[in-house]
Amino acid sequence: TSITSDIATLSREVEKFAKDKQLQIKNLNKREGYRREFLGNISHELKTPLFTVQGYLLTLSDGAINDAKIRDKYIDRANKGVERLIAIVKDLDMISKLEAADLNINKEPFDIVKLVKGIYDLLEIKAKKRNVTLLLDKHYHYPIMVIGDEERYEQVLTNLIVNSIKYGVIGGTTMVSIESFEKNKMLVKVTDNGEGIKAEDQSRLFERFYRVDRSRSRDQGGSGLGLSIVKHIVEAHGEEIFVKSEHKKGSEFSFTIEKSENF
Ligand code: ADP
Repeated sequence: TSITSDIATLSREVEKFAKDKQLQIKNLNKREGYRREFLGNISHELKTPLFTVQGYLLTLSDGAINDAKIRDKYIDRANKGVERLIAIVKDLDMISKLEAADLNINKEPFDIVKLVKGIYDLLEIKAKKRNVTLLLDKHYHYPIMVIGDEERYEQVLTNLIVNSIKYGVIGGTTMVSIESFEKNKMLVKVTDNGEGIKAEDQSRLFERFYRVDRSRSRDQGGSGLGLSIVKHIVEAHGEEIFVKSEHKKGSEFSFTIEKSENF
Protein backbone atom coordinates (compact mmCIF):
# COMPACT_ATOMS: atom_id res chain seq x y z
CA THR A 1 0.00 0.00 0.00
CA SER A 2 2.85 2.35 0.66
CA ILE A 3 4.00 1.92 -2.96
CA THR A 4 0.47 2.57 -4.17
CA SER A 5 0.23 5.74 -2.14
CA ASP A 6 3.71 6.84 -3.31
CA ILE A 7 2.62 6.37 -6.89
CA ALA A 8 -0.58 8.28 -6.23
CA THR A 9 1.39 11.18 -4.67
CA LEU A 10 3.84 11.15 -7.54
CA SER A 11 1.12 11.17 -10.13
CA ARG A 12 -0.59 14.10 -8.39
CA GLU A 13 2.71 15.98 -8.43
CA VAL A 14 3.24 15.26 -12.10
CA GLU A 15 -0.27 16.40 -12.83
CA LYS A 16 0.26 19.63 -10.88
CA PHE A 17 3.56 20.24 -12.64
CA ALA A 18 1.93 19.74 -16.03
CA LYS A 19 -0.91 22.09 -15.09
CA ASP A 20 1.54 24.79 -13.91
CA LYS A 21 3.47 24.49 -17.16
CA GLN A 22 0.28 24.73 -19.18
CA LEU A 23 -0.71 27.85 -17.28
CA GLN A 24 2.73 29.37 -17.80
CA ILE A 25 2.53 28.71 -21.54
CA LYS A 26 -0.96 30.15 -21.66
CA ASN A 27 0.22 33.32 -19.88
CA LEU A 28 3.21 33.63 -22.19
CA ASN A 29 0.95 33.29 -25.23
CA LYS A 30 -1.39 35.88 -23.78
CA ARG A 31 1.47 38.34 -23.23
CA GLU A 32 2.77 37.67 -26.70
CA GLY A 33 -0.73 38.37 -27.98
CA TYR A 34 -0.85 41.70 -26.09
CA ARG A 35 2.52 42.65 -27.50
CA ARG A 36 1.46 41.89 -31.03
CA GLU A 37 -1.76 43.82 -30.56
CA PHE A 38 0.16 46.76 -29.09
CA LEU A 39 2.55 46.85 -32.05
CA GLY A 40 -0.38 46.68 -34.45
CA ASN A 41 -2.05 49.54 -32.58
CA ILE A 42 1.08 51.67 -32.67
CA SER A 43 1.49 51.40 -36.41
CA HIS A 44 -2.19 52.09 -36.92
CA GLU A 45 -2.05 55.17 -34.68
CA LEU A 46 1.03 56.51 -36.46
CA LYS A 47 -0.30 55.81 -39.93
CA THR A 48 -3.30 58.09 -39.71
CA PRO A 49 -1.46 61.36 -38.98
CA LEU A 50 1.47 60.37 -41.23
CA PHE A 51 -0.78 59.90 -44.23
CA THR A 52 -2.59 63.13 -43.42
CA VAL A 53 0.68 65.07 -43.36
CA GLN A 54 1.83 63.38 -46.56
CA GLY A 55 -1.48 64.22 -48.24
CA TYR A 56 -1.18 67.93 -47.45
CA LEU A 57 2.47 68.07 -48.51
CA LEU A 58 1.73 66.32 -51.81
CA THR A 59 -1.17 68.65 -52.56
CA LEU A 60 1.06 71.63 -51.78
CA SER A 61 3.81 70.44 -54.08
CA ASP A 62 1.21 69.70 -56.77
CA GLY A 63 0.49 73.41 -57.02
CA ALA A 64 -1.58 74.35 -53.97
CA ILE A 65 1.49 76.20 -52.74
CA ASN A 66 0.75 78.99 -55.24
CA ASP A 67 -2.53 79.89 -53.60
CA ALA A 68 -1.63 81.82 -50.46
CA LYS A 69 -4.87 81.01 -48.64
CA ILE A 70 -4.85 77.27 -49.32
CA ARG A 71 -1.11 77.13 -48.64
CA ASP A 72 -1.46 78.57 -45.15
CA LYS A 73 -4.36 76.28 -44.33
CA TYR A 74 -2.56 73.16 -45.54
CA ILE A 75 0.70 74.03 -43.82
CA ASP A 76 -1.27 74.57 -40.62
CA ARG A 77 -2.97 71.17 -40.95
CA ALA A 78 0.31 69.42 -41.77
CA ASN A 79 1.77 71.02 -38.65
CA LYS A 80 -1.13 69.75 -36.54
CA GLY A 81 -0.48 66.25 -37.88
CA VAL A 82 3.18 66.50 -36.91
CA GLU A 83 2.18 67.74 -33.45
CA ARG A 84 -0.04 64.68 -33.04
CA LEU A 85 2.81 62.42 -34.09
CA ILE A 86 5.12 64.06 -31.57
CA ALA A 87 2.51 63.66 -28.81
CA ILE A 88 2.10 59.95 -29.59
CA VAL A 89 5.85 59.34 -29.69
CA LYS A 90 6.33 61.20 -26.39
CA ASP A 91 3.61 59.11 -24.73
CA LEU A 92 5.08 55.89 -26.14
CA ASP A 93 8.48 56.90 -24.84
CA MET A 94 7.00 57.44 -21.39
CA ILE A 95 5.26 54.06 -21.49
CA SER A 96 8.39 52.19 -22.47
CA LYS A 97 10.32 53.89 -19.66
CA LEU A 98 7.58 53.01 -17.17
CA GLU A 99 7.49 49.41 -18.37
CA ALA A 100 11.24 49.02 -18.20
CA ALA A 101 10.96 50.46 -14.68
CA ASP A 102 13.90 52.72 -15.46
CA LEU A 103 11.91 55.80 -14.72
CA ASN A 104 13.31 57.15 -11.50
CA ILE A 105 10.65 58.00 -8.99
CA ASN A 106 12.05 60.68 -6.73
CA LYS A 107 9.81 60.84 -3.71
CA GLU A 108 9.92 64.19 -1.97
CA PRO A 109 7.43 66.30 -0.06
CA PHE A 110 5.54 68.88 -2.11
CA ASP A 111 2.46 71.06 -1.86
CA ILE A 112 -0.24 69.50 -4.03
CA VAL A 113 -2.49 72.58 -3.83
CA LYS A 114 0.26 74.69 -5.37
CA LEU A 115 0.77 72.05 -8.05
CA VAL A 116 -2.92 72.06 -9.02
CA LYS A 117 -2.97 75.87 -9.14
CA GLY A 118 0.06 75.86 -11.46
CA ILE A 119 -1.58 73.31 -13.77
CA TYR A 120 -4.80 75.36 -13.81
CA ASP A 121 -2.81 78.42 -14.89
CA LEU A 122 -1.29 76.47 -17.78
CA LEU A 123 -4.65 75.04 -18.84
CA GLU A 124 -6.62 78.27 -18.58
CA ILE A 125 -6.70 78.88 -22.34
CA LYS A 126 -7.69 75.29 -23.09
CA ALA A 127 -10.51 75.50 -20.54
CA LYS A 128 -11.71 78.87 -21.87
CA LYS A 129 -12.04 77.42 -25.35
CA ARG A 130 -14.68 75.03 -24.01
CA ASN A 131 -15.95 77.54 -21.47
CA VAL A 132 -15.06 75.16 -18.63
CA THR A 133 -14.61 76.59 -15.12
CA LEU A 134 -11.64 75.14 -13.19
CA LEU A 135 -12.35 74.82 -9.48
CA LEU A 136 -10.31 73.84 -6.48
CA ASP A 137 -12.40 72.77 -3.53
CA LYS A 138 -13.01 75.96 -1.54
CA HIS A 139 -11.10 75.29 1.64
CA TYR A 140 -7.80 74.86 -0.15
CA HIS A 141 -6.32 78.25 0.49
CA TYR A 142 -3.60 76.53 2.48
CA PRO A 143 -0.88 74.06 1.46
CA ILE A 144 -1.42 70.29 1.60
CA MET A 145 1.90 68.50 1.81
CA VAL A 146 2.18 65.07 0.19
CA ILE A 147 5.06 62.79 -0.78
CA GLY A 148 5.85 61.62 -4.30
CA ASP A 149 7.56 62.57 -7.52
CA GLU A 150 6.11 66.00 -8.17
CA GLU A 151 6.98 66.02 -11.86
CA ARG A 152 5.20 62.69 -12.37
CA TYR A 153 2.18 63.77 -10.38
CA GLU A 154 2.07 66.92 -12.48
CA GLN A 155 1.63 64.62 -15.47
CA VAL A 156 -1.04 62.55 -13.69
CA LEU A 157 -3.05 65.64 -12.74
CA THR A 158 -2.56 67.31 -16.11
CA ASN A 159 -3.82 64.23 -17.98
CA LEU A 160 -6.87 63.90 -15.71
CA ILE A 161 -7.71 67.60 -15.82
CA VAL A 162 -7.22 67.81 -19.60
CA ASN A 163 -9.54 64.81 -20.01
CA SER A 164 -12.19 66.41 -17.86
CA ILE A 165 -12.00 69.55 -20.01
CA LYS A 166 -12.02 67.52 -23.26
CA TYR A 167 -14.81 65.13 -22.33
CA GLY A 168 -16.74 67.46 -20.06
CA VAL A 169 -19.65 69.47 -21.42
CA ILE A 170 -19.06 72.88 -22.95
CA GLY A 171 -19.71 75.36 -20.18
CA GLY A 172 -19.17 72.70 -17.51
CA THR A 173 -16.89 72.54 -14.49
CA THR A 174 -13.79 70.65 -13.48
CA MET A 175 -13.29 70.27 -9.77
CA VAL A 176 -10.21 69.08 -7.93
CA SER A 177 -10.69 68.12 -4.30
CA ILE A 178 -8.27 66.63 -1.82
CA GLU A 179 -9.37 64.74 1.27
CA SER A 180 -7.93 62.43 3.91
CA PHE A 181 -7.91 58.75 3.05
CA GLU A 182 -7.12 55.92 5.42
CA LYS A 183 -4.41 56.58 7.98
CA ASN A 184 -1.60 58.31 6.16
CA LYS A 185 -2.90 59.03 2.70
CA MET A 186 -4.83 61.65 0.82
CA LEU A 187 -7.35 61.04 -1.94
CA VAL A 188 -7.17 63.46 -4.86
CA LYS A 189 -10.33 63.64 -6.97
CA VAL A 190 -10.81 65.18 -10.38
CA THR A 191 -14.52 65.52 -11.13
CA ASP A 192 -16.43 66.75 -14.17
CA ASN A 193 -20.07 67.00 -15.11
CA GLY A 194 -19.51 65.78 -18.65
CA GLU A 195 -20.81 62.92 -20.70
CA GLY A 196 -19.62 60.25 -18.28
CA ILE A 197 -18.53 56.73 -19.15
CA LYS A 198 -20.76 53.65 -19.45
CA ALA A 199 -20.08 50.86 -16.96
CA GLU A 200 -18.93 48.46 -19.69
CA ASP A 201 -16.23 50.91 -20.81
CA GLN A 202 -15.00 51.83 -17.34
CA SER A 203 -12.92 48.70 -16.81
CA ARG A 204 -11.10 49.19 -20.11
CA LEU A 205 -10.28 52.90 -19.87
CA PHE A 206 -6.77 52.33 -18.56
CA GLU A 207 -5.79 50.04 -21.43
CA ARG A 208 -3.38 51.46 -23.94
CA PHE A 209 -5.12 53.05 -26.92
CA TYR A 210 -8.58 52.32 -25.54
CA ARG A 211 -11.06 55.08 -26.32
CA VAL A 212 -14.77 55.17 -25.88
CA ASP A 213 -15.25 57.46 -28.84
CA ARG A 214 -12.38 57.27 -31.29
CA SER A 215 -13.22 60.21 -33.49
CA ARG A 216 -13.90 62.48 -30.53
CA SER A 217 -10.60 61.57 -28.91
CA ARG A 218 -8.73 62.21 -32.16
CA ASP A 219 -10.46 65.55 -32.71
CA GLN A 220 -9.31 66.58 -29.27
CA GLY A 221 -5.73 65.54 -30.04
CA GLY A 222 -5.73 62.49 -27.77
CA SER A 223 -3.30 59.60 -28.19
CA GLY A 224 -5.40 57.11 -26.20
CA LEU A 225 -2.38 56.57 -23.95
CA GLY A 226 -3.05 59.21 -21.29
CA LEU A 227 -4.91 57.11 -18.76
CA SER A 228 -2.60 54.13 -19.09
CA ILE A 229 0.31 56.45 -18.27
CA VAL A 230 -1.61 57.88 -15.31
CA LYS A 231 -2.27 54.39 -13.92
CA HIS A 232 1.36 53.36 -14.41
CA ILE A 233 2.69 56.40 -12.56
CA VAL A 234 0.24 56.06 -9.66
CA GLU A 235 1.04 52.35 -9.31
CA ALA A 236 4.78 52.98 -9.58
CA HIS A 237 4.33 54.98 -6.36
CA GLY A 238 2.55 52.00 -4.80
CA GLU A 239 -0.76 53.88 -4.86
CA GLU A 240 -4.21 53.23 -6.33
CA ILE A 241 -6.45 54.85 -8.93
CA PHE A 242 -10.25 54.69 -9.11
CA VAL A 243 -12.94 55.75 -11.51
CA LYS A 244 -16.59 56.43 -10.77
CA SER A 245 -18.83 57.58 -13.52
CA GLU A 246 -22.41 57.82 -14.53
CA HIS A 247 -23.30 58.02 -18.19
CA LYS A 248 -24.50 61.50 -19.17
CA LYS A 249 -23.85 62.82 -15.65
CA GLY A 250 -20.11 63.02 -15.21
CA SER A 251 -16.96 61.27 -14.08
CA GLU A 252 -14.73 61.20 -11.07
CA PHE A 253 -11.15 59.96 -11.35
CA SER A 254 -9.31 59.72 -8.04
CA PHE A 255 -5.97 58.49 -6.80
CA THR A 256 -4.35 58.00 -3.42
CA ILE A 257 -1.13 59.74 -2.46
CA GLU A 258 1.12 59.53 0.58
CA LYS A 259 0.59 62.26 3.15
CA SER A 260 3.68 64.07 4.36
CA GLU A 261 4.38 63.23 8.00
CA ASN A 262 5.25 66.71 9.09
CA PHE A 263 1.94 68.01 7.86
P1 ADP B 1 -7.29 60.09 -24.95
O1 ADP B 1 -5.97 60.50 -25.48
O2 ADP B 1 -8.17 59.45 -25.98
O3 ADP B 1 -7.96 61.15 -24.16
P2 ADP B 1 -7.00 58.62 -22.44
O4 ADP B 1 -6.23 57.38 -22.17
O5 ADP B 1 -6.63 59.85 -21.68
O6 ADP B 1 -6.92 58.86 -23.99
O7 ADP B 1 -8.54 58.31 -22.19
C1 ADP B 1 -9.11 57.13 -22.76
C2 ADP B 1 -10.58 57.35 -23.06
O8 ADP B 1 -11.32 57.46 -21.84
C3 ADP B 1 -10.90 58.63 -23.82
O9 ADP B 1 -10.75 58.46 -25.19
C4 ADP B 1 -12.34 58.90 -23.40
O10 ADP B 1 -13.21 58.14 -24.24
C5 ADP B 1 -12.43 58.33 -22.00
N1 ADP B 1 -12.34 59.37 -20.95
C6 ADP B 1 -11.24 59.76 -20.28
N2 ADP B 1 -11.52 60.72 -19.37
C7 ADP B 1 -12.84 60.94 -19.46
C8 ADP B 1 -13.76 61.83 -18.78
N3 ADP B 1 -13.35 62.68 -17.81
N4 ADP B 1 -15.07 61.78 -19.15
C9 ADP B 1 -15.50 60.93 -20.11
N5 ADP B 1 -14.69 60.09 -20.79
C10 ADP B 1 -13.37 60.09 -20.47
